[in-house]
Amino acid sequence: MNRVLIVGGGIAGSALAILLGRGGLDVEIVEINSDVTALGSGITLQGNALRVLRDLGVWDEVLPLGYPFDELGLRAPDGTVLAELPDARTGGPDLPATLGMNRPELAAVLHKAVKDAGAKIRFGLTVDSLTQDGDSVEVAFRDGTTGTYDLVVGADGISSHIRGLLGIEAERRPVGMGIWRIHTRRPQAVRRTDLIYGGPCYIAGYCPTSETEMYAYLVEKARPKGAVAPADMAAEMHRLAQGYGGPWEEIRADLATADPARINYTWFEALLVERPWNRGRVVLIGDAAHACPPTIAQGAAMCLEDASVLAELVLAGEPDLFERFMDRRLDRVRAVVDASVQLCEWQLEGRRDADVPGLMGRVATLLTERP
Ligand SMILES: Cc1cc2nc3c(=O)[nH]c(=O)nc-3n(C[C@H](O)[C@H](O)[C@H](O)COP(=O)(O)OP(=O)(O)OC[C@H]3O[C@@H](n4cnc5c(N)ncnc54)[C@H](O)[C@@H]3O)c2cc1C
Repeated sequence: MNRVLIVGGGIAGSALAILLGRGGLDVEIVEINSDVTALGSGITLQGNALRVLRDLGVWDEVLPLGYPFDELGLRAPDGTVLAELPDARTGGPDLPATLGMNRPELAAVLHKAVKDAGAKIRFGLTVDSLTQDGDSVEVAFRDGTTGTYDLVVGADGISSHIRGLLGIEAERRPVGMGIWRIHTRRPQAVRRTDLIYGGPCYIAGYCPTSETEMYAYLVEKARPKGAVAPADMAAEMHRLAQGYGGPWEEIRADLATADPARINYTWFEALLVERPWNRGRVVLIGDAAHACPPTIAQGAAMCLEDASVLAELVLAGEPDLFERFMDRRLDRVRAVVDASVQLCEWQLEGRRDADVPGLMGRVATLLTERP
């Protein structure tokens, strides 16, 4: 394989482009947006995601931009700290358990590394059609240009256009929960993720993303999308945040005056494409193939691992590329999707006897092993 087209310049597509570009392949990304470094608020990256970022050679740039921590706090709704639990270092003992980061900064670091690896990015562009003859893929782009590739990778997210072009059916399943998020300043007391169960919402939490910033979230039963007008979203999140103490008092004060553009509401959804994720020489990675509610914050890690494993197999010239890719990815991704959904279901069912530590422990053991 020499000429590779990656559709989508998010975390999965960028990571793959860096690895294949550095391996000497001729790599092109097409990204439908005109820029990806202006989008999104914060992200919680777990150790196994950080391990891939280190393999990509960007860890030294990422670490000073983010906010590392090694424990998870549990608080009562009034803010009282109930427990401080050491977080599993799934990336190994020499990486933090977790790093909070601003998404635009992560995107900027990855895109710089894409260019340094010699891969090209074309913004504001997508694919119209794919035609395969066994040896190559002919691609027609929306701007009327065409190209011939040995491998095409759909890394275009949960709504994947490439998945549709391949005719791969995948059910996008809302799990019944919705999440409100605000990107705001970091109160001094916020030095790790603290979760609150048992208040007015299923979960109240936050994650520091830099010395000065963080994002905070409230998870409740899903309501129809669009039920709250954008101009009213800050007031609604402020209302839901009543009844939470500790650092939430400062978050609530920020919500009272927040720019509506800093508030976001979305559903928790799950998706898993069954084997195989390819049709001929076109393969899906990242959220295009699997997505999970962020209850264990493994979405980006699974994307980065997909990119890492696929790049390793491509560069090794693996003859059964897609078979071996599925052997190394599907069960691991399924375990993450299932665990993420299970945690939501236990909350929705009000199960107080659920073995959450047991489930988290099993997942952490699995993810600590390299994929
Ligand atoms: C509410 C919420 C919170 C989350 N929190 C976390 C968290 O804390 N930690 C974590 O690890 N994960 C989290 N995730 C999951 C994580 O964001 C995703 O798993 C990850 O961003 C997926 O990366 P991706 O590159 O596969 O897809 P995306 O990030 O969706 O990127 C796809 C890219 O493809 C582009 N694109 C789309 N369509 C086309 C097209 N037709 N042609 C060309 N380009 C196209 C898009 O513009 C985009 O740049 C969360 C998800 C949600 C919904």
